[in-house]
Amino acid sequence: MSDILDVLVVGGGPVGACAAALLLASSADDIGPLRVGVLEPNRPRPAGGPLESRVVAVSRASEHILKSASAWDRVLGPRVAAYERMRIWHESFAPSSAGALVFDAAEVGEPNLGSIVAHRLLQAALLDAVAEVGGRIEPAGLVGLHVGPEYVTVETSTGSLSARLVIGADGARSAVRQLLGLTADITDFKETAIVATVATEQPHDKTAWQRFMRNGTLAFLPLADGASSIVWSADNNVATTLVGLSATEFAAELDRASDLALGHTRLLSDAQAFPLQRLAAHRYVAHRCALIGDAAHVVHPLAGQGVNLGLLDAAALAELIMGARREREDPGALRVLRRYERWRKSEVAFMSTAISAFDRLLAHGSGPISRLAQRGLGVVNRSQEIKRFFVSRALGVAGELPRSARP
Ligand SMILES: Cc1cc2nc3c(=O)[nH]c(=O)nc-3n(C[C@H](O)[C@H](O)[C@H](O)COP(=O)(O)OP(=O)(O)OC[C@H]3O[C@@H](n4cnc5c(N)ncnc54)[C@H](O)[C@@H]3O)c2cc1C
Repeated sequence: MSDILDVLVVGGGPVGACAAALLLASSADDIGPLRVGVLEPNRPRPAGGPLESRVVAVSRASEHILKSASAWDRVLGPRVAAYERMRIWHESFAPSSAGALVFDAAEVGEPNLGSIVAHRLLQAALLDAVAEVGGRIEPAGLVGLHVGPEYVTVETSTGSLSARLVIGADGARSAVRQLLGLTADITDFKETAIVATVATEQPHDKTAWQRFMRNGTLAFLPLADGASSIVWSADNNVATTLVGLSATEFAAELDRASDLALGHTRLLSDAQAFPLQRLAAHRYVAHRCALIGDAAHVVHPLAGQGVNLGLLDAAALAELIMGARREREDPGALRVLRRYERWRKSEVAFMSTAISAFDRLLAHGSGPISRLAQRGLGVVNRSQEIKRFFVSRALGVAGELPRSARP
């Protein structure tokens, strides 16, 4: 029995690695050490390599979680950029017109609205935090799963492992979810997000810029070196054409789509394509198993919330597991895991619905309600109360927060 781990996290992406790091960090206290393993076939090399185009906007709540997981100091460095403002507008308006919605951290007494961090840097920092406190990182993938009454046996590409609780954090195509037979609603947005790093003629001014168009969304996320990372969500056929263009042709299309909000642009990296879907698992838990992050839910990237929602899952689940341990309850018992599901599922559903509505009304709609919403950005800009509501959501400090997500 001594070979049985307490918790095995399948998938060491940012969310799975964070769950493992939080469990290890909090079990270092009075309850005694927890044996935690992470199964990750593609551990990223340490930071320092070439610039990575795929970045995520990390919210204030996520920053607190990363501090609790002893990973924030590893994330911080010359490549991380705090952003102080967001400017959102619809293509029917000029970027600096009264039709734009601007959120400024200073207006809510915050130093910034969050940080732009390379996805791989975040993942590497969290896995390093796991390794440093004795977590076992297995460089293998899951291929099979057997759930027994006392523990789960996981077949990997190199052998097998057993654990009293398995956390499925293996992304949108989660093998854990599928092997457990947990069903999900999957909606194909028929859109692709193009991600690239670009130089802009005008400085980004520590601002995240987002333009809603009739056929998609374009965001410029400010990077520390003055460049910007773009996330351009377009209908699949448009995206296919865009990624096939030369660097000069692509920049010309980007200039048109951005309405030159930051002046002329120049491509600094390849343009990568990510097909977009919405996914909502019907259940997040089964006996001795729980899903977190993209394995449980995938949202449209336009609001930059996927990682943030996943880190909140990781924090909520870690808090409940540690609470169960303190009460001498079995953390793999379904009644414990259902508390996690109740906590996170409604919160995620609210966010996911709101984000999809934004996509439908602002980026694609052309009817009267859409036109109202498009004009409404400027109206929202004039209401401090509504703005505060949106800022609290952007900072991730709304809803029922796990302890590690609080200041
Ligand atoms: C274009 C784009 C822009 C985005 N921008 C933002 C943003 O600004 N802010 C934000 O919060 N979110 C953003 N997101 C969403 C965010 O990237 C995801 O929500 C996030 O990566 C989910 O993390 P995860 O750890 O759950 O899954 P993943 O990052 O997908 O990690 C899953 C891990 O599981 C491993 N794995 C897979 N299969 C197996 C297996 N069989 N066995 C073992 N391991 C396995 C993989 O190697 C991987 O490391 C964006 C997404 C896209 C597509």
